[in-house]
Amino acid sequence: MAPLRVLVTGAAGQIGYSIVIRIADGTVFGKDTPVHLVLLDIPQCANVLEGVVFELQDCALPTLHGVEAVTEEKAAFKDIDYAFLVGAMPRREGMERKDLLAANVRIFKSQGKALAEYAKPSTKVIVVGNPANTNAFIAAKYAAGKVPARNFSAMTRLDHNRALAQVALKAGVTVGDVKNVIIWGNHSSTQFPDARHAQVTKGGNSVDAYTAVGDDAFLQGDFISTVQKRGGVIIEKRKLSSAMSAAKAACDHIHDWHFGTQPGQHVSMAVPSDGSYGIPEGLIFSFPVTIDGNTKEWKIVQGLSLDDFAKQKIAVTTKELEEERDDALKACDESSI
Ligand code: NDP
Repeated sequence: MAPLRVLVTGAAGQIGYSIVIRIADGTVFGKDTPVHLVLLDIPQCANVLEGVVFELQDCALPTLHGVEAVTEEKAAFKDIDYAFLVGAMPRREGMERKDLLAANVRIFKSQGKALAEYAKPSTKVIVVGNPANTNAFIAAKYAAGKVPARNFSAMTRLDHNRALAQVALKAGVTVGDVKNVIIWGNHSSTQFPDARHAQVTKGGNSVDAYTAVGDDAFLQGDFISTVQKRGGVIIEKRKLSSAMSAAKAACDHIHDWHFGTQPGQHVSMAVPSDGSYGIPEGLIFSFPVTIDGNTKEWKIVQGLSLDDFAKQKIAVTTKELEEERDDALKACDESSI
């Protein structure tokens, strides 16, 4: 079997360091699938990247058939099967949201063009670098014609995993006993973590999460704000961001895209909207999706009922994403890349 070519950008960074080992050791694509890892970062990080390559070699992993460090897009995107786009411009003190967006538009416009020029048309992309949904939208726009928009996604799996864990803690079960939480919208503090359609296995029976938790005020209050603000709380405690759980979530996302979701289960993934639930078409929006492991195609779960509370929360995150998209498109026109 020819090795899968897997690109990780920002591979000299914190999240990259925790992602590469899971790809290399078979956790993401299976113990029988050889991988060739391509690690991209900016030229100033070339030495750090080389250190990561040396460590991966020293792990002596039978699934890792090759690993290379690159600092140019052409070499990075050539013939790749999967791309983890982690590298992004970090927010610096005093930086306006618009400046951050403009800096990232430049990066993701250029990477979208590189995908169109060098990658396989079947390449599947997860964007982790923030603002992840809008970065994915821009990359998809510039890869259009070669890589279809539905091959682009942004990560909300960390928020999804956080929501599973919060329901489990409150219901007094283990996380494996909880399924089908949903993250709607943007990977930002406007996201809507929703337990209305979640199920919990308790005492051998499957019950809905609201019954298992028995505290509606929690599920419509602290549960939502805890998931929305978790990243900030971890930074406050660790003085570093949540790189380990972010990397694990990115790997879960691509694992499920590659192998498919379990029967009766859905996961949250930010994908281009097809108009489902009234979300404007094309917006990269987090939905509940199921994935067919044979075709590797995702489908947005249809027909879920939304009460007024959910509709109002979804409207807020939709508005934020539309504004981000419009600002990003404006920045695209102004960017010379
Ligand atoms: P991290 O590896 O910690 O984070 C990388 C990106 O992931 C950031 O945009 C970060 O957003 C985002 N992110 C998403 N979810 C999370 C989460 N739960 N916790 C933390 N971050 C999250 O950043 P580092 O600074 O350690 O590394 C970034 C690397 O990217 C650097 O090596 C840099 O040189 C590189 N880079 C590469 C580029 C390229 O290859 N072309 C372009 C730009 C940078 P947030 O900022 O909001 O925390």
